[in-house]
Amino acid sequence: MKMDQRHLWIGGKWKQAERYESLLSPYSGEAIAKVAQATKENAKEAIEVAHQAFLSFKQIPAYQRAEILYQAVHLLEQRKEEAARIIAMEAAKPIRNARLELDRTIQTYQFAAEEAKRIVGERIPMDAAIGGENRIGFTLRFPVGVVTAITPFNFPFNLVAHKVGPAIAAGNTIVLKPAEKTPLSALFLAELFQKAGLPDGVLNIIPGRGPELGETLVTHPHVKKVTFTGSPEVGKEIHKMAEFRKITLELGSNSALIVDQGTEISGMIDRVVEGAFSYNGQVCISIQRIYVHHTLYEAFLHELVERTKRLKIGSPLDEDTMITALINQKAAHRIHAWIEEAVQAGAELVYGGTLEGNVLVPAILTQVPHHSKLIQQEVFGPVVNVLPYDHLDEVIGWVNDSRYGLNAGVYTHDLRTAFSCIHQIETGGVLINDIPTFRLDHMPYGGIKDSGIGREGIQYAIREMMVEKLVSFHWR
Ligand code: NAD
Repeated sequence: MKMDQRHLWIGGKWKQAERYESLLSPYSGEAIAKVAQATKENAKEAIEVAHQAFLSFKQIPAYQRAEILYQAVHLLEQRKEEAARIIAMEAAKPIRNARLELDRTIQTYQFAAEEAKRIVGERIPMDAAIGGENRIGFTLRFPVGVVTAITPFNFPFNLVAHKVGPAIAAGNTIVLKPAEKTPLSALFLAELFQKAGLPDGVLNIIPGRGPELGETLVTHPHVKKVTFTGSPEVGKEIHKMAEFRKITLELGSNSALIVDQGTEISGMIDRVVEGAFSYNGQVCISIQRIYVHHTLYEAFLHELVERTKRLKIGSPLDEDTMITALINQKAAHRIHAWIEEAVQAGAELVYGGTLEGNVLVPAILTQVPHHSKLIQQEVFGPVVNVLPYDHLDEVIGWVNDSRYGLNAGVYTHDLRTAFSCIHQIETGGVLINDIPTFRLDHMPYGGIKDSGIGREGIQYAIREMMVEKLVSFHWR
């Protein structure tokens, strides 16, 4: 990849910024590029350009919006390897995982293209109420206008696609502020969408610092919808600022997995290792807490340690690397300190947990006190806590005793256990006979409690980016 200067993308043109910052590889510490840092003025300009562009983009028919998205899919397929290497470089994501992210991204835009043609309203049976006689009722959906999208570092292509795809499908225009740590993946889309036929000004990309740009991006009067993926702390600030705007918040979690008695460990343990340690656990639905029925506990722990030992640690660009550097030193030190704190409080570190540079060897702990940060907070790193349980009610109580509620996984052969979990677990998704680290890009996805507000998954995200208008037609 060329180590060049990357500018702001506003109104279909590259624009010089007042300030540039070096982007460093989290793995090697080398400078990868110099990246423009947008100011508040740049953010205002991007929003105003997006507002102007909306006035004409909202007239473009659905089949043309779908065609633009299909073209983008086509262009992304051609440049898949180049894009995957950008993720590997800037996010230190193992190249195999980066390629998988690209496969998903392509599918996400494909879903957006398909869904662009399926935006429908509802027929309302007006005569179900006295006084509704002789009226035909239906709803129509209209694009909301300018959408601000603020995205995190961990899936810099696919989580951007979950905002840009539905926004274009719905007929909206976008101002995208990617994570400071991974701006290159977002900027890659600028010319790609232009080549795909997206009119200038529909997609504007302004890298920069969140705290500096947040207020403008959320409170500017032309912004009609804010869609944010990131930490609950930032999510809360954005929520306060957004006032009556439409808002989607996709936030963090400390996802739990229940392993019921009778589960065949050999058939699921590789999935568990993947769910806990894939991309160093820097996944919002990474497995953080595993509650294993006491009859299986010893065997499960043994197998988990053995499989985890096989994970290859190395450079993100090596083909067989599975574990590599965390996103930055601050994250590495925070997670390491949390492990030490838990051990001081009585936890046993069964495997890993040593830090070398920004690389943390995947850590497996037991006997972790319930009040410790490793259980209560979101670790967002390669750490998993394994704890035994005796009764279903007890373990459901532990799973729910959390400020988060995104996904939970339950392995069980027992239908009553499965349905008890489905009914009682307080999360946006319950995955039976699967790990919580499971997302298909068209399914409804999102959390409750501090894990967020609203749902993504293309058709659900489209709905949340549109306004629904009732039409009542009095015909006699
Ligand atoms: P982060 O909250 O630090 O940053 C996310 C984005 O918010 C970045 O673009 C950042 O610049 C911006 N930002 C920071 N302060 C801001 C402010 N005051 N106003 C406006 N924007 C601001 O998160 P991160 O470290 O990039 O990502 C990790 C977090 O994201 C984890 O909590 C993870 O669980 C969550 N996440 C959630 C999902 C989901 O779908 N639920 C998916 C991926 C990541």
